[in-house]
Amino acid sequence: MPIVIDVLHADITTLAVDAIVNAANPSLLGGGGVDGAIHRSAGPDLLDECRRLGGCATGDARLTKGYRLPAKFVIHTVGPVWRGGECGESRLLESCYRRAIQIAIDAGVKSLAFPSISTGIYGYPIELASVVAISTVRAALSESETIREVSFCCFSATDLAVYRRALRHDIP
Ligand code: ADP
Repeated sequence: MPIVIDVLHADITTLAVDAIVNAANPSLLGGGGVDGAIHRSAGPDLLDECRRLGGCATGDARLTKGYRLPAKFVIHTVGPVWRGGECGESRLLESCYRRAIQIAIDAGVKSLAFPSISTGIYGYPIELASVVAISTVRAALSESETIREVSFCCFSATDLAVYRRALRHDIP
């Protein structure tokens, strides 16, 4: 069965997929942007579980339950802060997508949605980040027999247009 990769314009907290990915910070204790939205929708039990995880390194990821979210799981990953592009940012961003997919496979996830990691408060240019996101996910999925659908969830119409363009240019 072919794997579906699509691009959506939505609030990721509303998606009824097996797992959503959170663009978290290294403390895993919540923050602004998508992280704040996920914690607000999931409720306080998510923060309790995150506290027990003891943080997460940049480029790595951790699994929790989704609590009050429609999604069963949240995969928290810590993207790199953009420092001009010469500080290993693309390698770390790739690692976020790869680790999230690996964790999703281990948890038996069939449908997964990503936000645009690092392109908000962390300042990674979305034109560059979208290319890394799509090519890394496509490569990582070639090792998966469980995941059937991956969505890139864009919060604005401008972000959606950038991801659509990147998806068109990344022909498998
Ligand atoms: P980072 O710190 O990794 O940059 P942000 O949360 O600041 O994380 O931004 C990452 C992306 O998530 C941005 O493109 C932002 O517009 C988007 N975003 C913010 N809230 C939501 C939401 N509820 N659903 C989906 N995407 C969101």
